Amino acid sequence: MQTQLTPCPFFINGEWLPSTLPGTPVHNPSTGEVIAQCPAGTAAEVNAAVEGAAAAFPDWWETPAVERARVLFKFKYLLEDHFEELIRLNTREHGKTLAESRGDVKRGIEMVEFACGVPSLLMGESLENLARGIDCETVRQPLGVCVGITPFNFPAMVPLWMYPTALACGNTFVLKPSEKVPLTAIRIVELLQQAGLPKGVLNIVHGGRECVDALLTHPRVKAISFVGSTPVAKYIFEVGTRHGKRVQSNGGAKNFVFIMPDADVENSTRGLIEAAYGCAGERCMAGSTAVVIGDADKTVLPSILDAARAIKVGPTDREAQPSMGPVITRQHRDRVVQLIEAGVKEGAKIPVDGRGAKVTEAPNGFFVGATVLDDVQSAMSVAREEIFGPVLNVMRFADLDAALEVANQSPYGNGASIFTRSGKAAREFKHRVKAGMVGINIGVPASMAWFPFNGWDESFFGDLHMQGKESVQFFTRQKVAMTRWFSYGEGDIWSR
Ligand code: NAD
Repeated sequence: MQTQLTPCPFFINGEWLPSTLPGTPVHNPSTGEVIAQCPAGTAAEVNAAVEGAAAAFPDWWETPAVERARVLFKFKYLLEDHFEELIRLNTREHGKTLAESRGDVKRGIEMVEFACGVPSLLMGESLENLARGIDCETVRQPLGVCVGITPFNFPAMVPLWMYPTALACGNTFVLKPSEKVPLTAIRIVELLQQAGLPKGVLNIVHGGRECVDALLTHPRVKAISFVGSTPVAKYIFEVGTRHGKRVQSNGGAKNFVFIMPDADVENSTRGLIEAAYGCAGERCMAGSTAVVIGDADKTVLPSILDAARAIKVGPTDREAQPSMGPVITRQHRDRVVQLIEAGVKEGAKIPVDGRGAKVTEAPNGFFVGATVLDDVQSAMSVAREEIFGPVLNVMRFADLDAALEVANQSPYGNGASIFTRSGKAAREFKHRVKAGMVGINIGVPASMAWFPFNGWDESFFGDLHMQGKESVQFFTRQKVAMTRWFSYGEGDIWSR
């Protein structure tokens, strides 16, 4: 029996518009079934969405920040009321485990909580008597129509990194979710509509390059938030800024997890395994390289290999949950396997091999088993390319200095972690490692809503990051106002 397709409408100016445009199939990665068709929107849909957002902007901006925040408070409660439904939908279209979907939706709700504080976050500064009789103040004003373009790997969280803050600041928004996972984003926006968001304030378009290009070049769009792979992130930054937009653009990563010889075996194994294989390695903060230092190859590495062998990959769309789910598409599964093969050809050892993972209960799912490549050298393709799958590279070094020298040559700069009992080693690492988010005995140092999601180098293009106060700066511009009042002498009420 064929699966009934879930509708994947555009949301333009308050209307859910079904589409007959040809599109991209959305899969349940656990079974390989097509569950929806994501339409490929063109410049026409983009224009309608942007015009809708532009028309809604004046009223939304004039809506007091306190009232805008009240819509977001309602939204937060609706997200919590529908939590179980959302995590199931998220798992169905993405393939991550239900526990991982819980994290995805929870992190997103925290962004709404952050944005609910917007009346305080928008407050400016003032100084009385900047000069004699002259007062000065700063206020923050919204930009206008902002755009969000999001990747497949966090269907709930990443869109919520963007529009709650943008809307709270008084902007209107057009979201283009990943064509691989549009359904969770749509359902969440239905809840925002139910929370009382006025029509046109948030719009959704779908599509690929053509749709994105129309957004990047539309004259009414003021700002672009992008999250995705580095080549696309660069492209978005270059084209967006060339067209006069403010752009924040998060790219891909290769993140190093240093294991010092004194690291606690159990805690560092757990931290590293979680970092490497959580969400089947499809995380920009995945700890995809274990940097094994000195005798850690004798103390911790054997325990890591045992733990990797014990990971059970399987379908996530049912009650009995595996420890790891499938990757997003068949093509991506094949790419991950090809990269593993390239690594082996280039000389890496493969003590844990997930290439032939058999999942009898779901033979058409997109599975790769947990894999470890040992003796990886920095020139190998597996060391240079973001694999974005359940593959842990192991690199061995004699000491911290030698390891830092190699890790710091990475073009990326998202996250880096160290497991150690030594305060001195931790301090040295925190100070010297070239990454924007650092973990000390934490495998995935992904910052939460109140702090910036702080990629560096090829992991981020722009000046102001998502999350935290920087996101409020990104979605607003400052005005400085200086005020002087004259006295008009005799007739002046004040002087009487
Ligand atoms: P992707 O770059 O393929 O797609 C991201 C978005 O860009 C999608 O909406 C897609 O439709 C659009 N897009 C794709 N190709 C395009 C093109 N040529 N022109 C214009 N638009 C295009 O990324 P993905 O595979 O969906 O997501 C995985 C990537 O995202 C990984 O590299 C991961 O590290 C990265 N990521 C980064 C962060 C971060 O904060 N740094 C967070 C999550 C994911």
